[in-house]
Amino acid sequence: MDFELNDIQTMVRDTARKFAREEVAPLAAEMDKEARFKPELVQQMGELGFLGAAVPEAYGGAGMDYQCYAIIVEELSSACASTGVVVSAHSSLCCDPILKFGTEEQKKQFLPPLASGQMLGCLGLTEPQAGTDAGNVKTTAVLDGDAWVLNGTKIFITNGGPAGVAVVIASTDRSAKHKGLSAFIVPADTPGYRVAKEEHKLGIRASSTAELVFEDCRIPKDNLLGAPGEGFKVAMATLDGGRIGIAAQAVGIGRGALEAAVAYAKERTQFGKPIASFQAIQWKLADMATELDAARLLTLRAAWMKDRGLKNFSRESAMAKLFASEAAMNATREAIQVFGGYGYIDEYPVERYYRDAKITEIYEGTSEVQRLVIARALLRD
Ligand SMILES: Cc1cc2nc3c(=O)[nH]c(=O)nc-3n(C[C@H](O)[C@H](O)[C@H](O)COP(=O)(O)OP(=O)(O)OC[C@H]3O[C@@H](n4cnc5c(N)ncnc54)[C@H](O)[C@@H]3O)c2cc1C
Repeated sequence: MDFELNDIQTMVRDTARKFAREEVAPLAAEMDKEARFKPELVQQMGELGFLGAAVPEAYGGAGMDYQCYAIIVEELSSACASTGVVVSAHSSLCCDPILKFGTEEQKKQFLPPLASGQMLGCLGLTEPQAGTDAGNVKTTAVLDGDAWVLNGTKIFITNGGPAGVAVVIASTDRSAKHKGLSAFIVPADTPGYRVAKEEHKLGIRASSTAELVFEDCRIPKDNLLGAPGEGFKVAMATLDGGRIGIAAQAVGIGRGALEAAVAYAKERTQFGKPIASFQAIQWKLADMATELDAARLLTLRAAWMKDRGLKNFSRESAMAKLFASEAAMNATREAIQVFGGYGYIDEYPVERYYRDAKITEIYEGTSEVQRLVIARALLRD
């Protein structure tokens, strides 16, 4: 067992940390306030290989392992959680299913522009009546000659606004319920594809969360991703990987809050001493650091399992997301406490970290769902 990053992972971490500190952190508060992502960051991250980290070089990616991808998402999220999820949703929810289930032609067509940052990707699974109950998708896809015709509405789609391509889960056989779902690659410039609404949110405000509407949206027959009826399987396998990205995002958010709290505790004096000298403050910092380290280890273990091509890492990725999201909530809440009243106002970043952390307990499966996944695996084994 080796707890050290290898040379490539260390280099990736240092590059991502430098970029996060120098290019992302100075923009984070402004992007949060304006609820708008700076497109130039997409271009810069594309050039650095962050948008195709785990995509093989043959398809225009950086050819790194999933551990490197998790390291990148943690570093970006420690500066700005919105930036973390832009990369995470793009990579795990769009590039990854195309890589895993796509034909050679699909990979050649879609992965190079995604990996370079020429366009962003998203996953359209959730619908108004299909959240946790993801098998209850009502969007339909009907074969008409050499085209699939999509009709329906997807909600809460990360990167939905700017995305150039969406992986969409739709029903091809309503009678078969979740076994009648199929996955499709849908270019956003297809007639009948419409971004209907952008949501206003508590946190990760700079990332787009959009409603996508499909009205007689005709895509080529060849844009079916995987076999007909495999859509639920595609979605679940995608979420197994995606949860590693969200766990890394949570670790990054928590670490950003911890670093801010440590710096403030050393600098703020009360009763003539730095507040860091009070044991009550020290214990908070110690608990935050311990939980976040444990969360990172769970995250990297799940990524390591995915890298080794181990078939089933659902339990481990659910554990990583569950623990990391709760560690992020604890760390950001306690960071505000360390800052006192200054933590509650937007002069300091910790209130933003707190707002950003909450979503990690909800998307790509709520904490309740992660516990279900873990318990089912325990009871099955
Ligand atoms: C900012 C944001 C970004 C998102 N990005 C995407 C995206 O890119 N693509 C996408 O497809 N979706 C996305 N989602 C959707 C997200 O994954 C869902 O919101 C989430 O899975 C929960 O579904 P729901 O909101 O319908 O809640 P519900 O399923 O209605 O759940 C409500 C509550 O009931 C609990 N619950 C439900 N069923 C059970 C059960 N069987 N056992 C125990 N408890 C249960 C839940 O845990 C929760 O506490 C995003 C959501 C948000 C808010």
